[in-house]
This record gives sequence, structure tokens and C-alpha cells, in this order.
Amino acid sequence: MSSGTMKAWIFQEPESMQLEEREIPSPAADQLLIRVKACGVCGSDVAYYWGESSLETPDGKGPLVLGHEFSGEVAEVGDIPASKNLFQPGDRVTVNPVQYCNTCEVCHRGQVNLCENKGVLGVSADGAFAEYVLSHYQHVYRLPESVSYEAGAFTEPLACGTYAVKNLDISLGDTVVVLGPGAIGLSIVALAKASGAGRVILAGTRDYRLETGKTVGADVLMNTSDVSSQYYCADITQEINKQTRGKMAERVIVATGSTQAMHLALEISGRRSLIVYFGLPGDRDKVEVPALQSILWDKTIKFSWLAAFTWVEALEAIQSGLVNTSPLITHSFPLDQLMEALVVSREKRGNPLKVMVTM
Ligand SMILES: [Zn+2]
Ligand SMILES: [Zn+2]
Repeated sequence: MSSGTMKAWIFQEPESMQLEEREIPSPAADQLLIRVKACGVCGSDVAYYWGESSLETPDGKGPLVLGHEFSGEVAEVGDIPASKNLFQPGDRVTVNPVQYCNTCEVCHRGQVNLCENKGVLGVSADGAFAEYVLSHYQHVYRLPESVSYEAGAFTEPLACGTYAVKNLDISLGDTVVVLGPGAIGLSIVALAKASGAGRVILAGTRDYRLETGKTVGADVLMNTSDVSSQYYCADITQEINKQTRGKMAERVIVATGSTQAMHLALEISGRRSLIVYFGLPGDRDKVEVPALQSILWDKTIKFSWLAAFTWVEALEAIQSGLVNTSPLITHSFPLDQLMEALVVSREKRGNPLKVMVTM
């Protein structure tokens, strides 16, 4: 049995979170205790901390340990996985924080990302901004030996990006536009290239992100807001029209929550095009679809949420180098500097992409 104490950041309410000493929890029969090695800072962690969105606990409040993009080492194995010989202490692993029940009709239909009985580590159950975290054993994935803990902690966002790219259904040679060059948007660029895109156009508002996009496979960069940028493009619709000789883009994926980008996607997509909305807008935001033009061009609009059965593929993409995570992971802080990590992510100080806490 585990004994002793651990450090854990306890979120109470917006702008109130303390590093505390807590008992190391013991795994229930169906759980593993994991010693956390790396945990990424997600936009949603920033939003929870500053009160821009609420937790999924019953009352939307803490106390809760945040952090859901993590990897670590198995420290203790509960009775069920132990009896099946599934895990050993010392195994290097990453964890799907979206712990679906595998029992409801939604899960039985394979729509596990939409399970209504799910617990989400770091969102409705304790997460990984701590030295140890508990997980149900069925949501734990072994890390290939060549995959570092930091890269392993990127599996969660990458699995969501992989699911979105599968929804994008790229055909060989397609012109694919990615709007939003955050860490996931940039991994979507790499995955789109690997899926057969002929040309990937990456559009955003910050040059350092666009330039990282170039290193992971973007063919054309467009800065939509910074007039001093060498990639500045005053009218992206016209530019894509020119570059595609009037065809417009076959595939567009919106990896930002901006409704402006969601509208732009409708403008720059062509005949039989497919648009995927992936970034999260505000809960009152609406998108206006030009209905007739969309029908006349036989367009498809899809939405993509979390990840269903793409964890193995995401790990393969990291291991094989299809997605190089090292340019995407720009900052790393020790656990006791989580606050700095949150501020860097929020204020984009020092040109961050993915910011990590490492132990
Ligand atoms: Zn996340
Ligand atoms: Zn379920």
C-alpha cells in the first residue's frame, strides 16, 4: 500500500489554488496509482483557473487537482489489473483522462467520447498537477520506449487532433487549410500532410507559430492580422481563390474557437468541400451559414469533439516521427512553478506553444 504524502495543487475557486501536502491516494481495485512525470497546460486549465469556464464537478467548483494531459510511471496496481497481469510498477504510461464508462449505450455504440457517465481527470476528478494521480486501468496506455515522458504527455491533445483529421477525410492531393496554429493546430498540419494533403495552408495571427508550422509541414503561411508580418494577407479569401485558381479549399479545419475563423472557413471552402470545427467557441457563440451557396456547392460541415479510439494512432504518430512534438513543446516548469506556467500560457510570454510541468 502506498503511504506518505505528496505535493498537489488544489484548485478551490477561480484564482485560488495552493500547493499542498496530501496523503498519496491508494488505488481502488480497478485503478492504478501513477507517479506523474509530465503534465501539459491546456487552454482549459487556464480557463478554469481564471474562471472563464467551470469544472465538471457536481457543483462546478473545487477542491480539485487540475491537469489532464499527462504521462508517468505506474507506482501501484489495483487488484483487478494485477490479477490479469496487465500492469507492473515501473511501467511508463500515458492516460486518457476522459474515462468513459464502457457500459452505457453511447459507449456500446462506440461513441465513447460522448459517454455521459464519464469522469474526466483534472476536470471532474483529481488530475495530474500533483506528484501522483489515480486512473482507471482501462484508460492507461503504455508508452513506447522511444517516446519521452514529455512527448507522452502530448498524446491527449494529439489524439484529439488525430480524431479531427480523421473527421476531415482528406483525399490525396487536397488543398487543406488549417485555421489556428496552436499546438494542436500545428500537429494537425503534420497529420494532414501525412494523410495525403497536397498542400497545407496555415493561417493565424502570430508569426512564431506560423513559422513552427513550416517546420512541421505547412506549405503556405498566412498571417491574417499582423500588418508587419512577411506573411500578412489582407484578404485571405481572395488569396486562396488565387492560389487554387478559383477552386477554393477542399478541406478546412478550424483549430481555434474564433467565430471569425469559423465564418472564414465557409468562405474559403470549395465544391464538395468538408469543413471541421474543432476549436471551442464560447457557449453563446453562433455561426451563420450561407445556406444556398453551401447547398449549391454540396458542402459538408462536421464538428469534432475529444477523441474516440485514436490513442493508439496518436502514439504511433509520435513514435514514428509523423508528428515531431519537440518544436511544439516550448516551455517546461517544475511542479511548484505551476502558476508561472499558467501565466506564460495565458499571456503568451516568450512565444509559447505547449507549456509543460515536469517532475
Ligand atoms: Zn487539454
Ligand atoms: Zn458510457
